[in-house]
Amino acid sequence: MTDADYDLCVIGGGINGVGIARDAAGRGLSVLLVEAKDIACATSSASSKLIHGGLRYLEFFEFSLVKASLREREILLNAASHVVRPMDFVLPHVPQQRPFWMLRLGLFLYDRLARRDRLHASYVLDLSSAAFGKPLSPSYGRGLCYADCVVDDSRLVVLNAMDASARGAEILTRTKCTLITPHEDCWVLDLEGKDVAQTRRVRASMVVNAAGPWVENILKDSKMLDDRGSVPTIRLVKGSHIIVPRAYEGDQSYLLQQKDGRVVFAIPYEGDYTLIGTTEEDFVGDAYAPMISDAEIEYLCQAFNGFFQKKISRADIAWTYSGVRPLVDSGAKEMRKASRDFRLYEHPQSRAPMISVFGGKLTTYRLLAEKVIDRILHMSNRFAAPWTASAFLPGGDFPGGDFDAFLQYCREEYSWLPPDLLLRYACAYGARMDRFLEGARSLSDLGDSFGAGLYEAEVAYLIRFEFARDVEDILWRRSKLGMAMNEEEIEHFHSKFKDILQDVDP
Ligand SMILES: Cc1cc2nc3c(=O)[nH]c(=O)nc-3n(C[C@H](O)[C@H](O)[C@H](O)COP(=O)(O)OP(=O)(O)OC[C@H]3O[C@@H](n4cnc5c(N)ncnc54)[C@H](O)[C@@H]3O)c2cc1C
Repeated sequence: MTDADYDLCVIGGGINGVGIARDAAGRGLSVLLVEAKDIACATSSASSKLIHGGLRYLEFFEFSLVKASLREREILLNAASHVVRPMDFVLPHVPQQRPFWMLRLGLFLYDRLARRDRLHASYVLDLSSAAFGKPLSPSYGRGLCYADCVVDDSRLVVLNAMDASARGAEILTRTKCTLITPHEDCWVLDLEGKDVAQTRRVRASMVVNAAGPWVENILKDSKMLDDRGSVPTIRLVKGSHIIVPRAYEGDQSYLLQQKDGRVVFAIPYEGDYTLIGTTEEDFVGDAYAPMISDAEIEYLCQAFNGFFQKKISRADIAWTYSGVRPLVDSGAKEMRKASRDFRLYEHPQSRAPMISVFGGKLTTYRLLAEKVIDRILHMSNRFAAPWTASAFLPGGDFPGGDFDAFLQYCREEYSWLPPDLLLRYACAYGARMDRFLEGARSLSDLGDSFGAGLYEAEVAYLIRFEFARDVEDILWRRSKLGMAMNEEEIEHFHSKFKDILQDVDP
């Protein structure tokens, strides 16, 4: 090894970057992670929020990807059952689409491809009589119900960043890597921070480029794509979601088959809403600012209206978001057939190892991180055992891993908290909620109130432990309270935020 500043520098604070930093720090490496903006500011907070095998990938014979994803689903459910929750999915049969036997066979495989300790097996539903059929148009007679998981995606990212930091990784947000220069035994990285003090040059013995949709940009800027060779190509595919006030009764989700062969999900969201998505469109432009198009809005409303008794229109939409998938370009003509698997590329420009990450899914980030660190250690003739498959994420360490029992404990311990607020805290922070509730006996002990259940104590916690540095970080990524607060409340929060930030002095 060289006398570099860090063993490993990770570029990108999306799910893959933070997962890699966490794994590496836990294996004893000195780690620096640089994120150009905020943790989870890009694709990793714009997903469909599913931790799933991906039932539809079976159709494209991606058995190993589905199997690996299903294994990860179980691991994540154990590691963080506050942010990863089981969910029933109802799949109505559409006679003009995939035959019923095919759906049953798909789910038969889905049930059996990997071990399933907490989730039920799939079963047939008579939609005309079952409660899950009630919200649907009467034309849907038969269906299937299977279990998968939903996740608060941006919180999953921040939990990994927190754990990486707790294990010694340095996490620098609002710090962009502008140049990577190969040296014989190390890599030199130029970092540009918000102010001059954060702008510096560091040396790392190993580098992982996990910049998601920007994975090629940093390579181009560093002239590492001049001779492209076997470096994979990235295909940027935009996906959008709409959010409407709760559009049906019940806690179940629906998988809605569309005429074009795609599927659209309807998922209960943040208590009072239904999340509907997603679309797929090739994307060119600023990947930090993808926007939903009129055609996508129309497509998603129709996708929903084709199945449900209640009809929705553009006027019902409370919020939309779009994200850009960084997929490995396999040359597939139809976007829905493009693989969600990942590829790791080892750069040859230095004796010191560097890997770029192409593609992936939120669901498989832990496995991806494990493979990256196994590989990069092997490249530098080192070994440290993998450890993340059986480790909790911050807040997920309830006795017996039983979230419902934990919730019951919280109800007794914090009987003074309004039930909705208690549920939000428990789902977001799990066993960590005591960090900002300890000693409090009433809401007034939590400091200033900013509306929608946001109190100063939570804000200070997010600044101190969760790298929040801005109002947006709190309202749209650490939480989704931005949806529940009105303009006045947001303005008031803006006016107070700087003072809280100064007081906490992270
Ligand atoms: C619409 C949609 C729905 C999806 N649904 C699901 C789903 O339900 N389940 C699932 O498993 N997967 C899903 N995915 C896929 C999943 O969201 C992505 O695979 C994953 O979030 C990609 O993470 P990432 O870390 O590679 O990229 P990102 O989250 O985009 O992170 C990359 C980070 O790198 C930073 N960065 C870029 N350049 C630099 C630089 N030079 N210096 C420092 N930092 C830099 C960026 O600011 C960014 O934060 C979905 C994706 C989309 C778009």
